Amino acid sequence: ALTERCLSAIEAKDGVVNAYLSRDRDGALAQARRVDAGEVTGPLAGIPIGIKDVLAVEGQPATAGSKILEGYHPPYTATAVRRLQEAGAVLLGKINCDEFAMGSSNENSAYGPVRNPHDTDRVPGGSSGGSAAAVAAGMALATLGTDTGGSIRQPASFCGVVGLLPTYGRVSRYGLIAFASSLDRIGPFTSSTRDAALVLGAIAGHDPMDATSSTAPVPDYTASIDRGVAGLRLGVPAEYFAEGLDPEVRRPVEETIEKLRAAGAEIVPVSLPHTRYAVPTYYVIATAEASSNLARFDGVRYGYRAADAKTLSDMYRLSREGGFGPEVKRRILLGTYVLSAGYYDAYYKKAQQVRRLLTDDFLTAFGQVDAILTPTAPTAAFKLGEKTDDPMAMYLADIYTVTASLAGICGLSVPCGTTSDGLPVGLQILGKHFDESTLFRVGQAVE
Ligand code: GLN
Repeated sequence: ALTERCLSAIEAKDGVVNAYLSRDRDGALAQARRVDAGEVTGPLAGIPIGIKDVLAVEGQPATAGSKILEGYHPPYTATAVRRLQEAGAVLLGKINCDEFAMGSSNENSAYGPVRNPHDTDRVPGGSSGGSAAAVAAGMALATLGTDTGGSIRQPASFCGVVGLLPTYGRVSRYGLIAFASSLDRIGPFTSSTRDAALVLGAIAGHDPMDATSSTAPVPDYTASIDRGVAGLRLGVPAEYFAEGLDPEVRRPVEETIEKLRAAGAEIVPVSLPHTRYAVPTYYVIATAEASSNLARFDGVRYGYRAADAKTLSDMYRLSREGGFGPEVKRRILLGTYVLSAGYYDAYYKKAQQVRRLLTDDFLTAFGQVDAILTPTAPTAAFKLGEKTDDPMAMYLADIYTVTASLAGICGLSVPCGTTSDGLPVGLQILGKHFDESTLFRVGQAVE
């Protein structure tokens, strides 16, 4: 029944929202029947879930929102997705996103933008905009997204749902089409904190196929979720409440912080002094890694190949020229530049050094507090087209999310109120490495 409900919501709403790039209706209904017949059990038995189209699912398309992967059907399944299947989940299909997860508005998809279900003139956020919109519109009970610099937390905030960035290494990246390997993470979108804890429990844990996946044991994330926040020390960094924060976002965030104080948390001012360097640092490291990861798309091994090439080098050049969109090309150029001889020390090496300072900021703060509270994004969802001509304005909107990405720590965005226009606002809760349990405790207290 859950699966049918989601499928009808897709039928009714997705013509406008455009969250799904492909659907597996028959596969989903067949799995739902096996669950009803008791042939499939598990902690997520019968739960309909959508998968961001950067994750491989055997036999289904995987476009990463790009024309260059048109027609590619991976021959294997990503570990995170396979673990959902093993937990009994029903897979509904593959979900729209910015091309190669590059973007903050889902307007960089080669398959058209996703629209925010709360206001279809507005963006859902990005790059996992489809994953957030699908949950917000009841077109899935949960979805998987990926977050490299904010792509789970920011769309969760814009669409009024819960989005989790797990600690780097907590969830295997095997089967994820790489954007920036030292930053990429897979995590869930759900409509409640408890559901996010359940999905993380299913997908987390060591995987021999990903050398960066942690061997740390996976706790029962729901066990301590109802303990409340009494006695927790929660840090509020002044740098995240400065110029550029929309007062319409500040108000619900500050009200929620007061609510947590009233519930017994101790609110502690903290400082993260290198925050202002985070956006440039992120855009150097992310583009450098992207330029290297995207070298594999050459017209030979995957998807799209230019038809009219006469020579091998023409085939490479024309396939990449025709297959990649403008934002992806911009990043390949930037990334190649910052890695090139003569500029490497000035840009890439410097960025790695600043990354260490940003991480140390958090480690120092976590010496004093159990978690940190910030707005997830400086504004609520903006209008489609509002920032498409200005990549810098788009990049600056990532200011509150890229810090945790660079530091490898975990983060949760939970809905915490609305603007006076009724647009959702998210509270970002940042936690120590591998301390997702505290995030869920705080998230549950906000709900
Ligand atoms: N908006 C950021 C970018 O464009 C983050 C994207 C992401 O997290 N995948 O790179």
